[in-house]
Amino acid sequence: MKFTVLTIFPEMFELFFRHGIIGRSVTKQQINAAVLNIRDFATDKHQVTDDRPYGGGSGMVMKPEPLAGAIRAAKKVSPASKTVLLTPQGRTFDQTAARSYAACDGLILICGRYEGVDERIDYQFVDDEISIGDYVLMGGELAAMVLMESVARLIPGVLGGEDSAEKDTFSGNLVEHAHYTRPYLFEDEAVPDVLLSGNHKEIDEWRLEMSLVRTFLKRPDLLKDKHLSLREIDILKKWCIDIENIIKAQSSRNTGALSGC
Ligand code: SAM
Repeated sequence: MKFTVLTIFPEMFELFFRHGIIGRSVTKQQINAAVLNIRDFATDKHQVTDDRPYGGGSGMVMKPEPLAGAIRAAKKVSPASKTVLLTPQGRTFDQTAARSYAACDGLILICGRYEGVDERIDYQFVDDEISIGDYVLMGGELAAMVLMESVARLIPGVLGGEDSAEKDTFSGNLVEHAHYTRPYLFEDEAVPDVLLSGNHKEIDEWRLEMSLVRTFLKRPDLLKDKHLSLREIDILKKWCIDIENIIKAQSSRNTGALSGC
């Protein structure tokens, strides 16, 4: 995977590409990272990258010529790369999009600033418009980092433990089970005993049950779209029966209380 970032603030990516798992995967050449300064492709002596909008109004617009120059330079090095414009008007980024990008040869990520980029760049050079959520940032740089982190961790070998990305939240439409580490007792709360049992079958069952229940409580929308296995249906049924029994016991108590009024 080759990430090529086009930005007027290349310094923002210096730490990003040097540290943590991203830094390690660059060093190990599991991912390849390049940052092009859009300003370097401006043709005037002041290297201007923005101008006033036609039709008037506030704010500035990113000029098309430097952007086009930067995109062409990126494409020359990595012709099979997909060109992605970060914009709040784009399709909302999610794990499915991250998975499909992880299979690409490369991504050229255009970071907008000001009021955004000249529309002709969008028409002529952009394959996808991506938003990281329904809010407006000051620039596309943080959005590009969000996209790259989520894509990079899906590239085989990047995370080290091969299966850790597969078990993550969203893989298989479930949020992940709870995690615990030492100490065993923290502020009077102990780690669930099953996790200390050494019984991997029981631990797997507990984790699946926790995943299902947490998804039901936190993200029921994911559960509705999920194709449940028989085992998962059994776990949910067991919870339903337990909840029904609690409700029955409470209702009979309440009925008693009401009849006394
Ligand atoms: N005037 C634009 C609009 O209303 O659509 C917003 C421009 S915003 C201030 C400047 C740049 O930040 C955008 O060109 C884009 O690159 C980036 N940006 C802002 N919000 C974003 C989001 N939610 N997702 C991705 N990029 C975003």
